[in-house]
This record gives sequence, structure tokens and C-alpha cells, in this order.
Amino acid sequence: MTIAESIAKVRENIAKAQANSQYAASSVLLLGVTKTQTVEKMRLAEQAGITDFGENRVQEMMSKYEEFPNINWHLIGHLQTNKVKYIIGRTVLIHSLDSIALAEEIEKRSGAAGIITNALVQLNIAEEETKSGIHEEELADFLEAMADYPHLRIQGLMTIGPHVEAPEEIRPVFAELRKLYEREKQRDLPHLDFRFLSMGMSYDYPIAVEEGANIVRVGSSIFGARN
Ligand SMILES: *Cc1c(COP(=O)(O)O)cnc(C)c1O
Repeated sequence: MTIAESIAKVRENIAKAQANSQYAASSVLLLGVTKTQTVEKMRLAEQAGITDFGENRVQEMMSKYEEFPNINWHLIGHLQTNKVKYIIGRTVLIHSLDSIALAEEIEKRSGAAGIITNALVQLNIAEEETKSGIHEEELADFLEAMADYPHLRIQGLMTIGPHVEAPEEIRPVFAELRKLYEREKQRDLPHLDFRFLSMGMSYDYPIAVEEGANIVRVGSSIFGARN
């Protein structure tokens, strides 16, 4: 399959999942995850209608950034505080806010630049030790603490599905994140702007859409396996 055909297939699967489920969002953003992919392949994806790219390393994102002036860039991998300065003003959304220290650094750099930076709080629902993200029971306090950072706008939640034998086993994790998302959205804290639920990758994005994701992060199903 060409990249354009793969994208069409993913879009078709997203549409099917939307039709299948009462929880599905009416519009779902397909984020093309471009880590390790060449600029040439990324251009094909852009030509096929992808508007948003996700990278998980700051350095790799920066090396490709100038090549794609019309793309919205998302930082989806763990972000170290000492790398924040490079991406301020260059990313539409950081998906991986997972500590107060990181929030402080984003606030400091965004304030200095006179801009507001959008971020999602990453949750570690499956409590896998290898994954970053805050735990469920810390979420309510964490979100309240965000009132101290006026240049950081929290737009929702993100999670990475656990490693499982079959994608269907991930469903309860995604359902849990949706419940947390709805709970916090309803609290309606004035400094929050909940609008994005980022979950689902190549392995599990149809289930994520059925469970309410409105951003899916898809790499290998578009570009082929990474080396
Ligand atoms: C790599 C990555 C993806 C995409 O993974 P695929 O399985 O290739 O679709 C999504 N989200 C995050 C955080 C990633 O690091």
C-alpha cells in the first residue's frame, strides 16, 4: 500500500469506529506519528491530507520543523525540562505533561515569550512502570495546581495503552480515561479548557475512537514499520 492508501484505510477504520459507538466523538483528528520517518515520506502524508505531525523527541522534531511550515506539530513523547525552551512557540500541543516541574518550566518559557502553550496531562492508567504519566488518584489535585500557570493551558488528557495480548484488552483503560476526562470537564475549573482526549495508536486506535478519543496518534499503520 502507498502512504496515501494507508491513510485512506485508517480514516475508513476511524469512520467505522465512530459509527459503531455511542461514545465516539463526531470529529477525530488523525495525527501522523513521524518519528524515525524521512522527510520524503512525510511529504507524501502531507499531500494525502495529514495536517498534524507528532514526534516524540525534541531534537528530531526540530530537525524536520523548517521543512513543513504548514504542519501543526505535536510533541507526544516524554519531555525533559531542559528541552522545553526549544519547542515553545513551535508546537500546537504537548501531549505529555506529567509533572509540576515540567509545568513550571513551560510557564516560565511561555511567559518570557509572551505566549500560551497548550498541553494535555498524560495519565499512566495501566500503572506500567516503564511508562511516564501521573496516576489517576493524583489527577484532580494536579489539575487544580495548574491554576498557578497562566501561560500553560490544559486542554485535556492523554494516555498510552498498555502492552497486551489482544487490542480488546485495552478497552477498559480507554474507557477509564474517558470517565476521568468527563469528570474533570464537568468540574469546569476556570483555568482549564478541556477539549482533547488523545488515545489510540496503530494497534488500538479503532477501540480508542469507540471509547471517545478525538485525537489518535498513528505511526506504523501509515508509514510502515519503523526500523
Ligand atoms: C510512537 C508513538 C505512537 C505511534 O505508534 P504506532 O504504533 O507506530 O502507531 C503514538 N504515541 C506515542 C506516544 C508514540 O511514542
